[in-house]
Amino acid sequence: MAFPLEPLLDTLSGRVIAAAEELTALDSAIGDADHGLNMKRGFEAVLADRASILAKPPGEALKAVGMTLVMKVGGASGPLFGTLFMTLGKELPPDASAKDVAGALLTAVSAVKARGKSDLGCKTMLDVLGPAADHLSSSQASFGSLRDLAAASAQATIPMKATRGRASFLGERSVGHMDPGARSSQIMIEAVCDVLEGRI
Ligand code: ADP
Ligand code: MG
Repeated sequence: MAFPLEPLLDTLSGRVIAAAEELTALDSAIGDADHGLNMKRGFEAVLADRASILAKPPGEALKAVGMTLVMKVGGASGPLFGTLFMTLGKELPPDASAKDVAGALLTAVSAVKARGKSDLGCKTMLDVLGPAADHLSSSQASFGSLRDLAAASAQATIPMKATRGRASFLGERSVGHMDPGARSSQIMIEAVCDVLEGRI
C-alpha cells in the first residue's frame, strides 16, 4: 500500500482545526485558553502549504509539517508537536512497515520527552503519545485498540496533577480537568487510525 499521505494530512489537519473550540475550552480550565487557537493556526498553515508538502516523499513531508508546526503553533505545544513530526519524518524509512512506524513513534516520543524535559505522568500530551507508541510496538495492536487506548489515556489525565507546562502553576487545582495537549494527541491518533483503517 502506498503511504496515504494526502488523506492523512487532510483528515488530521481538518480534525484538529474542527476541535479548536473544545481544545481552547480545555486550556481555559488549566492554562491560558489558547491551545485550540494555537493548533488551528499551525494546521491551517500546514494546509496552506499542502501542495508543496504532498509533492515530497513521506519522510520529508512529515519533517515539513513539523517545521511548520514549530513556526506557527507557538506556545509550549508548537516545538513539542513539531519535534514529534520532525523526528517521525527523520526516522521513517521509505516503504515503512508497521514495525518501522512503531519504532519511529517510540523515538519521536523520546525526542518530545527530551525537548519538554518531561515524562509520563506529568499530565501532558506524553500521557497519550507514550502509551500509544508502546502499544504499537506490542504484537496485539489494532486500530480499534489504539483508538480505545488513546481515548482512555486522555481521560486518565483528568485526575492527574500537572507537573510540567503552564498547568503545573495551578498545582492541585489542575486536578479534575483533561489536559488539552493530551486531547489534541488523541484526536490526531484517532484521525490516523480512521485513515489507515480505510474509514476515510
Ligand atoms: P502554552 O501552555 O504555552 O499556552 P499550549 O496551550 O498550546 O501552550 O499547549 C499546552 C499543552 O502543551 C499542554 O496541555 C501539554 O499537553 C503540553 N505541554 C506543555 N508543557 C509540556 C512539556 N514540558 N512536556 C510535554 N508537553 C507539554
Ligand atoms: Mg495554552
